Amino acid sequence: MSELAYPYEAPASQALFDRAAAVTPGGVNSPVRAFRAVGGTPRFMVSGTGPYLTDADGREYVDLVCSWGPMILGHAHPEVIAAVQEAVAHGTSFGTPAEGEVALAEAMVERVAPLEEVRLVSSGTEATMSAIRLARGFTQRTKVIKFAGCYHGHVDSLLAAAGSGVATFALPDTPGVTGAQASDTIVLPYNDLDAVQAAFAAHPGEIACVITEASPGNMGVVPPLPGFNQGLKDACAANGALFVSDEVMTGFRTSRAGWYGVEGVVPDLMTFGKVMGGGFPAAAFGGRADVMAHLAPAGPVYQAGTLSGNPVATAAGLAQLRLLDDAAYATVDAVSAQIQGLVTEALAKEGVAHTVQTASNMFSVFFTDRPVNDYEGAKAQESFRFTAFFHSLLANGVYLPPSSFESWFVSTAHDERAVQRIADALPAAARAAAEATA
Ligand SMILES: *Cc1c(COP(=O)(O)O)cnc(C)c1O
Repeated sequence: MSELAYPYEAPASQALFDRAAAVTPGGVNSPVRAFRAVGGTPRFMVSGTGPYLTDADGREYVDLVCSWGPMILGHAHPEVIAAVQEAVAHGTSFGTPAEGEVALAEAMVERVAPLEEVRLVSSGTEATMSAIRLARGFTQRTKVIKFAGCYHGHVDSLLAAAGSGVATFALPDTPGVTGAQASDTIVLPYNDLDAVQAAFAAHPGEIACVITEASPGNMGVVPPLPGFNQGLKDACAANGALFVSDEVMTGFRTSRAGWYGVEGVVPDLMTFGKVMGGGFPAAAFGGRADVMAHLAPAGPVYQAGTLSGNPVATAAGLAQLRLLDDAAYATVDAVSAQIQGLVTEALAKEGVAHTVQTASNMFSVFFTDRPVNDYEGAKAQESFRFTAFFHSLLANGVYLPPSSFESWFVSTAHDERAVQRIADALPAAARAAAEATA
């Protein structure tokens, strides 16, 4: 790492990070926030307005993370804040059914055709964990197919990486996940339908479901090749398994109906989070009514949550969904395309090998000139160039995801001024990327 990578300090953030490290493992409540992939001091944010975040040292950044997707209207949108204030004044949790959760479920079902019924939970992890339990309960089968590089939250059975070869059984990715949990998971290379067919052939009658990110954003943006999702759906249908599309990241972001709205492949079950919570902990899973009917109390598969359908979270989510009309998506798509263009131009000018990949308004930059179709391809990039690029942009007031394996996110609030700040910061960042050494 060159000295140039950290041309400035963040003393207030560093002091908070030191305090945090004394009481919290690694000083953070979610690992990627710790900047381990890029080094340096994680910025502690004190406020957010529109496209900007302000850190504890009083520096303002154009935010290209948007809380990892949820803040699609920008920070502190007045109408979302008003809905939250209205809800909060009536009490924060009842432990009973309430109208807000019905209204949010109705809004989701109305937007996403394959979503016949929905159950609200509090995180994307809970959504995928519950969807898999339901798929196993419904099919009375145990095995699950997932794809390398797809992240579905920290569900035990899904924290598994592939061994070498195609249809190998997974090894646990982390201590604390047992071999038994991982061995019911089959990890395959993304975008490889032959591997999926081979896995079904090798395990007849054993596979409960295939779970995939609708369009992956957790290895950087690696969209499905044409026909891949349809091929998964067909393979599931032919083999009595359920097709589970994880739209926690893409749902209500890549279009009004998420990635389903872009591609039109009908899943059996879907999972949601991020945008639907409006910046609060709200998530969901749902899909075919005959499958959802197996969920307690209607059916035998147990699932529950003290704060599920929380009135403040559902008010925020509903306010956000109502503001996301066609014009809002057109704005997000346009600003995303504009920033993609600026990044390409700056990196090309410095001769830096790169590929910008997109899925609707989600995009990321891989430091390689080869198209990336799977996790192996993503790992083949020159991540050290990203580190230099990241720190240069940070120093000039642009906040990127602190890893080269993440999507960048924009919002309706990213206006001319915010885009100009990015445009001004990019030439130096591209130069830093060009000069970086491994
Ligand atoms: C973020 C994410 C999750 C996990 O959601 P949490 O709310 O962080 O638990 C699951 N799946 C996908 C595709 C995600 O992007």
